Amino acid sequence: MKYDYLVVGAGLYGCVFARQAADAGKKVLVIDKRPHIAGNTYTENVNGIHVHRYGAHIFHTNDKKVWNYVNWFSEFNSFVNSPIADYKGERYHLPFNMNTFREMWGVKDPEEAKAIIEEQKKELSGKEPENLEEQAISLVGRDIFEKLIKGYTEKQWGRDCKDLPAFIIKRLPIRYTFDNNYFNAMYQGIPVGGYTKLADKLLEGIEVRLNTDYLEEKAELDKLAERIVYTGPIDAYFNYKLGTLQYRSVRFETELLDIPNFQGNAVVNYTDRETPYTRIIEHKWFDFGKDENGKDITGTVITREYPEEWKPGDDPYYPINDSSNNELYEKYRELAKKEEKVIFGGRLGEYKYYDMDAVIEAALQKSRELV
Ligand code: UDP
Repeated sequence: MKYDYLVVGAGLYGCVFARQAADAGKKVLVIDKRPHIAGNTYTENVNGIHVHRYGAHIFHTNDKKVWNYVNWFSEFNSFVNSPIADYKGERYHLPFNMNTFREMWGVKDPEEAKAIIEEQKKELSGKEPENLEEQAISLVGRDIFEKLIKGYTEKQWGRDCKDLPAFIIKRLPIRYTFDNNYFNAMYQGIPVGGYTKLADKLLEGIEVRLNTDYLEEKAELDKLAERIVYTGPIDAYFNYKLGTLQYRSVRFETELLDIPNFQGNAVVNYTDRETPYTRIIEHKWFDFGKDENGKDITGTVITREYPEEWKPGDDPYYPINDSSNNELYEKYRELAKKEEKVIFGGRLGEYKYYDMDAVIEAALQKSRELV
């Protein structure tokens, strides 16, 4: 066989695995069905702006090893994500912190904010939260749930907050300090020059074939390598034979505007139910409005994100890790164990709402086991 590993999918998992395998002396071929590398982290240069084609990606981690690893391949800028929420024209800071509480209730100090939240969570009568709605109310009370969580979440997931798992809302920090950093992470930033450049660096010296659909050419491609690292949807691999896993998809509407500043922030979330999009991204602010030579960029590019239910043929973005989907995934995982030649990895291969740092850690771990 010509290769030790065929890596299916040039997203972060595939790029990191391929790099580690190649560095260990293995022969690796990476394929992707899209015409570009970097998976959903793909960024494209439009008039000097790195446009995040498949939604905003802000790298953040508490894992020093992962941080050191990515910094080996790219410099990172010091961007800190501080989104603004718009609820019917009212503006709030995110994540939920003293600025949000002040804007919502006019409170000045942490004790006052805590007292209001304690009062509002009494409606749960001490019950352990069992779904996203109860979890949100127990963390921040009903006012914030109604204005900043309910509409956004129902648009994002296409489901009632009572039918969604609690862990989704635990992704967001809640703080009694005036700190608008969206992430509780020691390390944060955006790769200088964009994510595509980072992926390119990870794949340096490794053979890549684009526009190559593994599942369409499986029989031929399988003959090329001893082992396959498959990072596509696990249910698609098995031709959906046990049923389809559900995903949320996103439709992006991107505009190039001839103005210097559209919204004054990289991310503005629209948290009401009526606005059809969840957020508007203004890409230039991920790089402080500067091009690679440090010059102010004159125009701007914005993207509206419209969540959609996924149907076969669409790009899957978010696995819906509720109990029925997780059960179906477990059945696919049993099938996957029998595919001795194949390793399933990444957000789609493991049907897991992974952040980028966790994907990298998982790929590093797998490569340590195997190569
Ligand atoms: N969320 C919310 N209001 C917001 C932002 C987020 O209710 O303004 C909730 C929503 O349920 C979302 C979850 O928090 O799905 C996680 O948000 P995150 O920003 O981590 O989602 P991602 O960036 O992965 O789309």
